[in-house]
Amino acid sequence: MSTDGLVAMPLSDVEFDVHGGKPGIGLTNLPVLRADPRLAIQEDSISCLVCGCVFRQLTNTHLRSHGTTASEYKLHFGYNRGRPLMCRALARLYAERARRAGLAARIRRRPILVEPELRRRGGARAISLEESLTRRDARRRDIARRAAAKAALA
Ligand SMILES: [Zn+2]
Repeated sequence: MSTDGLVAMPLSDVEFDVHGGKPGIGLTNLPVLRADPRLAIQEDSISCLVCGCVFRQLTNTHLRSHGTTASEYKLHFGYNRGRPLMCRALARLYAERARRAGLAARIRRRPILVEPELRRRGGARAISLEESLTRRDARRRDIARRAAAKAALA
């Protein structure tokens, strides 16, 4: 989907609430998505890993219906803390909008500079399931690339 299509869409179509989800993948696929939560986020949809419904984005309202919050949800299912809970097309749209608005330049508070505890830990943090899966995939690609290069030389 092009982001232009999203811009033209009324807000109510973009921001699905708890009733806006479609019973998409079915509960049988939930274990697969929970094992690799990256798979729940597609170009035009995000599957809720609690109920399996499909949305454009997981709203606070929907997460509240499961008695959870966005940060708890990300922690529980192993997403990176900064992972936007929305389909890729919508995330790109918002990122582009933020870039155009110069949002980064307006961030004045830098926690690593003002919180001694953060600096002491040297940025150390827990590695999420999502990050470990992504690192594993990168290692495998690297190994495959080296094997291919070696085979080409032989
Ligand atoms: Zn749900």
